[in-house]
Amino acid sequence: MAVKKFIPQSENKVPAFAQNKAKPAEETWISMFKPDALKRAIVGRILTIMEDMNFKIVDAKVVHFKDDKKLLEQHYEEHLQKPFFPALANFMKSGPSLVFKMAGPPGSLARLRDMLGTSKPIPPGTIRAQFAQDATENCLHVSGNLKEAKEEVARFFPQKKA
Ligand code: GDP
Ligand code: MG
Repeated sequence: MAVKKFIPQSENKVPAFAQNKAKPAEETWISMFKPDALKRAIVGRILTIMEDMNFKIVDAKVVHFKDDKKLLEQHYEEHLQKPFFPALANFMKSGPSLVFKMAGPPGSLARLRDMLGTSKPIPPGTIRAQFAQDATENCLHVSGNLKEAKEEVARFFPQKKA
């Protein structure tokens, strides 16, 4: 039987995460390519940016909102009464969207949202500055924060019963 070397707590200066005992929890979120990204064939270029940021793909699926009005209204619930919603809904129903569940270390989602940029105005140097056509057709949705991420992961990738 292998004898484990006893290391008194006071001498063990290596932090727990460096000993691989406790890894900080990963964040998971939704990155969704909107219909314009698929139509214009820019998915690969944007996905490469996210992969280069070291984010991992956990799950993926194609969603067509024209076939699922309820899902669209749930996803954009906070915008249902906004003047731009009809144009947004028409755009989102104009073709398939590609939805990814992604994962990365703590802070990943905030980094990606900064890299994505807001829809109006679109900040220079962001993914939307490079690829969006306007405030509506802006190629990529990313969960807005960790609370939204949890809701969206549950909505798009509900746990399958064993
Ligand atoms: P996001 O989280 O950065 O995608 O932005 P929001 O949650 O505020 O809005 C959801 C989506 O609605 C955006 O990605 C755009 O497609 C659209 N949108 C938001 N604000 C505007 C706006 O002021 N005008 C128009 N035309 N579309 C908007
Ligand atoms: Mg949002």
